[in-house]
Amino acid sequence: MQICFKNISCSILMLCLFQNANAQLIKNVIIVDGTGAQSYKGAVRISGNKIAEVGNLTENQGEQVVDGKGKVLAPGFIDSHSHHFSSLMEHPEGIPNASQGVTSIIIGQDGESYLMDTLMAMMQAKPVAINVGTYTGHSTLRELAMGENDVLRKAKPSEIAQMKLMLASDLNNGSLGLSSGLEYEQAFYSAKEEVIDLAKVAAEHHTRYMSHIRSEDITIDDAMDEIIEIGRVTKMPVQVSHIKIGIKDKWNTANSYLLKLQKARAEGINITADVYPYNFWNSTLRVLFAKRDYENLESAQFAVDQVFDATASVLVQFAPMPSYKGKTIAAIAEERKETPAKTLIELIKLASKFKAANPNFKGTVEAIAAKGMSDQDVSAFISWPYSNICSDGNTGGHPRGYGSFPRVLGKYTRDEKLIPLETAIFKMTGLTAEHLGIKDRGLIAVGNYADLVLLDPVTVKDNATIQNSKALSTGIEMVWVNGQLIFQEQKATGKLPGVLIKK
Ligand SMILES: [Zn+2]
Repeated sequence: MQICFKNISCSILMLCLFQNANAQLIKNVIIVDGTGAQSYKGAVRISGNKIAEVGNLTENQGEQVVDGKGKVLAPGFIDSHSHHFSSLMEHPEGIPNASQGVTSIIIGQDGESYLMDTLMAMMQAKPVAINVGTYTGHSTLRELAMGENDVLRKAKPSEIAQMKLMLASDLNNGSLGLSSGLEYEQAFYSAKEEVIDLAKVAAEHHTRYMSHIRSEDITIDDAMDEIIEIGRVTKMPVQVSHIKIGIKDKWNTANSYLLKLQKARAEGINITADVYPYNFWNSTLRVLFAKRDYENLESAQFAVDQVFDATASVLVQFAPMPSYKGKTIAAIAEERKETPAKTLIELIKLASKFKAANPNFKGTVEAIAAKGMSDQDVSAFISWPYSNICSDGNTGGHPRGYGSFPRVLGKYTRDEKLIPLETAIFKMTGLTAEHLGIKDRGLIAVGNYADLVLLDPVTVKDNATIQNSKALSTGIEMVWVNGQLIFQEQKATGKLPGVLIKK
């Protein structure tokens, strides 16, 4: 071959053969290009890791051809709020993601992240099938600057200064922005001014802010105002993570919150949201106590009355007493001959004791899948023009980790006709990329990376449930990442072409 390259015409021929060997034609498909525009019949040619041509294409000699048999070809889905990374490191083929058509996950959510240099080293050491991007976590910065066990307070000016330096360095290394999880203890005690100071650093780096806001229940109005204020002061795009109304008194008022967000947008604040398509969430038992008073029976009773439905909320993890796993809080209360409120307090005590006795325990000590939203609100948030779809998922526990994207395509799009298919896919691809500041992905367009999913809109359906949270979805037929086929016939192909997405 080296000899051959001395001859110019021969090297051009070699180049052509090389290109053809690397080219793939996906023909006979309905293209939903991720812009939200009307779908159309056509074909897509991949060359190397990029999309080379789109339209009415004929086969070239020597290229691989996939007959799409009239199914839908869409850009690979981008999950803007994912907790799948540790499972991806264990199982690099990324089945929970690929089986949903997801080709990129965005981690570093809810304020907890790896710093970019750590993430780069991890991905270099272990290739994965799916692309990964990250935000820099506010709680992580707090833990680094204030000490891991000293974050239940406001940060001192010197600590904020240190956090700002670390954040700037991480943004320079390619982090997509600043994320916070203000409802969680590690950040709950931070002052608004601390968050704004850090957000300003993200804005100076032309990045973004996304937040699991300070409350999704009792003080949700103040929490919404806080993120709007951050958008106003910093003039950068801000995104509400997994938008929801988690308090029964305010159920079915999604439209009033959307009106508030629309008003902010009209004022010039670029505020958006992501949303997952379930009426139940998954978190720690502790978040049920808005005042963080875990032994207060009145607060526990408030949680039972207002924040979740004890008869429909399942303990999905409980290391101190594995026999409770899979049971509802109401059923456990009955077993313990207590009220559900008392049981909440006792379960949290058991979990704390377990953590103290097992400081090296790896994994989730306790988690609840809590029925805490109204269907009407979930639908309203999915249909808002400025929301994109996310999973907020992990592997196991809550079915969203395996089912979110097919659930929107099946239940909400095809069956309930809440939004057209083109809009649903826009909310999983083009709009998401826009919300995250990612270029070159999220659209079927020449020059973009060839992250693609072939799906059957007639059969696409989520199958994961609380009881069987890892059931694979139906109808996701083939998935490509950076031009390489990673998933086909419900199985990984073993290819690991995922890259680290940097700002
Ligand atoms: Zn969250």
